[in-house]
Amino acid sequence: MGIDRRDFLRLLAGIGCYTVIGKSTDVWADIRTVGHGDILGVLVDTTFCVGCRTCEKACNQINKDLPRKLPESFEDSSVFEKRRRMTTDSYTVVNSYPGKKNRQQFVKFQCMHCNDPACVSACIVGALTKEDNGAVRYDPWKCIGCRYCMVACPFQVPAYEYSNAFTPQVRKCTFCFELRTSKGEMPACVEACPMEVMTFGKRKELIKIARKRIKRYPDRYVPHIYGEHELGGTSWLYLSSLPFEDIDFPKFGYTSTPGYTEPIQHAIFKNFIPPLTLFAVLGCFMWFLRPQDKKSEPLLREEGQEK
Ligand code: SF4
Ligand code: SF4
Ligand code: SF4
Repeated sequence: MGIDRRDFLRLLAGIGCYTVIGKSTDVWADIRTVGHGDILGVLVDTTFCVGCRTCEKACNQINKDLPRKLPESFEDSSVFEKRRRMTTDSYTVVNSYPGKKNRQQFVKFQCMHCNDPACVSACIVGALTKEDNGAVRYDPWKCIGCRYCMVACPFQVPAYEYSNAFTPQVRKCTFCFELRTSKGEMPACVEACPMEVMTFGKRKELIKIARKRIKRYPDRYVPHIYGEHELGGTSWLYLSSLPFEDIDFPKFGYTSTPGYTEPIQHAIFKNFIPPLTLFAVLGCFMWFLRPQDKKSEPLLREEGQEK
């Protein structure tokens, strides 16, 4: 009594599913909840921002690798005519949105320093790391320029030096790690802001402050702290008077991107299905799908000839 081709394919599919998913139900439950301890963060209360761009200037001044001369000066408000993104020349940008009562709503953007960063998970050589204080750092010496981090980042933050032919680097906000936050000092942009838009401190304390503000001034804020839960949480948290989707903050669920992708990656490697094994499986498929007997070959040829 032999096994026919259909049963064999079913068996293969079953083994595949069991190996990758079924046997590893434990990894599906391994949803990340890291980063909710004593890590540092910044609460950005966008309702106070006046669009002065002092934060952009401070960021440029502290990061000596950034160009000293940019196309527009930091006093130039014409930059608000279009929405900008972070680039290799600017780790942070302020954009303008139509606000309430015909006012402009300004919003500062930079790397969110995710609790469970997709960029770190995607980097195959460990050039991006999550520090204990919450900063997500980049090591140019390890980077091989694959740009997986750029594809993985849900906020489209990392920028790549395409114009640098010999030593291109990925660029993004450093959370002022080396010069400031690793010593407990606030980032340069936070310190420079004349409107005290940003508050630096322990992430869990910032969440308490944000909740209090929302409770005390329900007409001023939408009842949401962006970054508290999105994608497993971020070190940079935001308050807004406008719905977050109106100020270009994507809507995300609570699970981080690595929370979805890593269980699959880990299941594959944990159960040792390296490429060679996959090739073996494909080989079995091909073997079973080969023409079964000599009679079928002329039949196929005849059908083709009739057409
Ligand atoms: S915002 Fe993007 S670049 Fe920044 S930590 Fe998160 S995934 Fe990484
Ligand atoms: S934390 Fe530092 S690197 Fe990041 S935007 Fe602010 S000043 Fe720039
Ligand atoms: S320095 Fe402060 S007020 Fe000025 S644009 Fe930056 S966040 Fe807004």
